[in-house]
Amino acid sequence: MLVEKNVPLQFSNTFGIVAKALSLVRIASEADIAAVLADPALKSVPKFVLGGGSNIVLTGDVKPLVLKIEIPGKRLHSETAKAWIIEAGAGESWHELVAWTLQNGYPGLENLALIPGTVGASPVQNIGAYGVELQDRFLELDAIDLTTGQSFTLNAAQCAFGYRDSVFKHKSSAGEAASTAGNPGFGLADKALITKVRFALPKNWKPVLGYADIEKKMAQSPVPDGGDPTAQQIFDWICEIRRTKLPDPQVIGNAGSFFKNPTVSNEQCADIIQREPKIVHYPLADGSIKLAAGWLIDACGWKGKSIGNAGVHERHALVLVNRGGREHPVTGGEVMTLAKAIQTSVYERFGILLEHEPVVV
Ligand code: NAP
Repeated sequence: MLVEKNVPLQFSNTFGIVAKALSLVRIASEADIAAVLADPALKSVPKFVLGGGSNIVLTGDVKPLVLKIEIPGKRLHSETAKAWIIEAGAGESWHELVAWTLQNGYPGLENLALIPGTVGASPVQNIGAYGVELQDRFLELDAIDLTTGQSFTLNAAQCAFGYRDSVFKHKSSAGEAASTAGNPGFGLADKALITKVRFALPKNWKPVLGYADIEKKMAQSPVPDGGDPTAQQIFDWICEIRRTKLPDPQVIGNAGSFFKNPTVSNEQCADIIQREPKIVHYPLADGSIKLAAGWLIDACGWKGKSIGNAGVHERHALVLVNRGGREHPVTGGEVMTLAKAIQTSVYERFGILLEHEPVVV
């Protein structure tokens, strides 16, 4: 096992922030994790699991041991009467997995095209786009308990998926009993390393449409017989839409949507609408109302603005960007200063506290 020292992370986080991992081990298999956990000098040190670095803000050098996940593999694992079961290694690129499933005739992930990051990070965030969330296509995942070295498998209910949320984003409470293979506990942040994810992709596939940008694409290129678009067609549209609206992290560093869409009660929403009649809002199945965070930020005048080298993207107010490029990259401090200034303006105008999506390290 090679423990690399002072490893630059600028190209391992999509913001392009300059920072180092003081120690880093590349994890390409379960055996690599077993080696770390068997090493007397490493087994008890704090650890930080790094996937594609697409959802983090680095505010300094990373002192915990960085486990850089590079576990490969994509395959048809099995099939049931209703679904194709696809298995992928945690280190695979998410977008490449989506493209591979379509090339091999397994539709279902197309609405999640071009989301940056790795397969292993996808359940942590319960990634979602255009009306599909990871949980809609998820079957189970394999993980390793970093405190005990035991492997375990979690189904969707055990992952406790929520809106951009899962068991992997919560720390266990102090009093929680020690984990076991069968009962890894509720809070798995900093405790579990995801190695493989299995998806159930429906044989009876139906397109998920309904978002305005997709409806526009359908109107521009209607399907000849008036039927549904194919999964490949939806994939291509979503790639086009995202490439037009969102900055490519290879060109302008960013971490995708920086804030979650807040939810409010019906009464709160009615109150806000009286003051802000144009507010963009969507009713949810549980009776609450989802507000579009990008609209709130734009309404406060932030689109295109900067603090230092941290900026708000000109075309999408929900995306904070690195305006200094690779030569003068933004710092994590600048990103968080801008994020706090945005939170303050939105709170002062709408009485809503925006919550950021990326993990601040
Ligand atoms: P948009 O179409 O301009 O809509 C703004 C917000 O309104 C979105 O956040 C979306 O919520 C919500 N919305 C729009 N149409 C809706 C509908 N028919 N039903 C329910 N909610 C609706 O959104 P956008 O910012 O360009 O993003 C489009 C999609 O890509 C969204 O689903 C967004 O979550 C996703 N996205 C993901 C990332 C990422 O990094 N993972 C980055 C940017 C955008 P939802 O976000 O809940 O869908």
